[in-house]
Amino acid sequence: MSEDTTYEPDTLTEAASGSGCHATDEMASAARAAGQSELLDQFARDYPQGPHDKPQSMCPAFGSLRVGLRMKRVATVLSGSACCVYGLTFVSHFYGARRSVGYVPFNSETLVTGKLFEDIREAVHELADPERFDAVVVTNLCVPTASGVPLRLLPDEINGVRIVGIDVPGFGVPTHAEAKDVLAGAMLNYARAEIEAGPVAAPAGGVSDLPTVTLLGEMFPADPVMIGQMLAPMGLAAGPVVPCREWRELYAALDCGAVAALHPFYTAAVREFQAAGRPVLGSAPVGHDGTAAWLAAIGESFGIAAGKVAAAQNAFLPAIKGALAAAPIKGTITLSGYEGSELLVARLLIESGADLPYVGTACARSEWSEADAEWLRARGVRVKFRASLEDDLSAMEGVRPDLAIGTTPVVQKAKAMGLPALYFTNLISARPLMGPAGAGSLAEVVNAAIAGKDRMDRMRDFFEGVGSGDTAGIWEGSPNERPDFRALNQKKIDKQKRAAKAQEMI
Ligand code: SF4
Repeated sequence: MSEDTTYEPDTLTEAASGSGCHATDEMASAARAAGQSELLDQFARDYPQGPHDKPQSMCPAFGSLRVGLRMKRVATVLSGSACCVYGLTFVSHFYGARRSVGYVPFNSETLVTGKLFEDIREAVHELADPERFDAVVVTNLCVPTASGVPLRLLPDEINGVRIVGIDVPGFGVPTHAEAKDVLAGAMLNYARAEIEAGPVAAPAGGVSDLPTVTLLGEMFPADPVMIGQMLAPMGLAAGPVVPCREWRELYAALDCGAVAALHPFYTAAVREFQAAGRPVLGSAPVGHDGTAAWLAAIGESFGIAAGKVAAAQNAFLPAIKGALAAAPIKGTITLSGYEGSELLVARLLIESGADLPYVGTACARSEWSEADAEWLRARGVRVKFRASLEDDLSAMEGVRPDLAIGTTPVVQKAKAMGLPALYFTNLISARPLMGPAGAGSLAEVVNAAIAGKDRMDRMRDFFEGVGSGDTAGIWEGSPNERPDFRALNQKKIDKQKRAAKAQEMI
């Protein structure tokens, strides 16, 4: 790719320059006008939209940002509105990034004249020090994507440092989980081209002599070790976890015998593995039934003798049964989240004894989660893919469970209703789930939360009467509601809507 390719920016629409997360239609139209149709069409195929087309959780780009920040010798640069970058860097440091995030700021002029692209190119050249970095990742957020800032025109490498440019707009990538896939897929694509071009280096940790299974999806650190133990009786080893922690692991990940899509939303990464000729398996070794089926599927994929598969199953399934029986969960639970592991957790909770009528995931349906969805539906669970916040809330309000596991707004609502609740991301998905170590790992936290029902009732009673919505809080007098102002404002809004409608018909 040539470095001196020039870029003629389109005139930026007002919508793309001045709107935030919720101007998805305007942003997408601006992006198409700026020549980004191919990118948006690929996103639509990889990450089909659900009932809502706006991010309902944190900025999706947090997913790819975190993947980059976790890799050794990888520098990360964001290009986007200052408020977006502030939020993203804040959250990444809140989650312990301990690394600098590069930022190339812009204003209307640098965006419209194409100077922003020149600034990005200059920043990348400055950063590309092979002593410090293997790769520099540059991410276009919403506005630069909508404006067509062409990261593809950046050089592929500078001084041996790989340059990876990705677009992660909130109007094409619905969740932060799927944004992880955008970067993982881009890196695998780059690494695959390097492998095709000639010999590549082994990872710092070395490579296994045994055929390996690459593990697709971020997990609790003990999970890959547990999976390795379960594969050993079949003469196999656990390969790298993708997203990887260092560049060279990408080569080892591609050099596997099969890929376990433990998290089912890695569409772009799966495309790269399939292009490298690797078979991909869905579901995960979770609970008794999940582990039995997963080990059998792995055995079949590698053509392993039935006796060896049975040996692996016999070595672990009784321990899993024992662990589940020793840590039973009693109670009704609704479950929702946006990490992509919701269906696996639901299986584990049911095998632990919980009654679980609903599981919602913000991720889309994919063939890699089909077996889990089927298993759950066979047990009467309503499985909702691309679940919106409204879906999750109405399930919780309808069921009134003993425990609601969900996203922050679900937990907030549950507390207001006096229901025990746990935040899925921090308290559930960050625990071991696989094999015997995962069986029973949820019981302690889940049972403790269910047992806290009295406390939730006391809390609800304590806050009863402090108001809700815009009358919440402590007031010296009565809340100053001014319904007349509201009525006037509503009239104005209705008038604007009517004018917009009339404009459409012209
Ligand atoms: S980059 Fe993220 S925070 Fe900024 S507008 Fe897009 S979705 Fe919202």
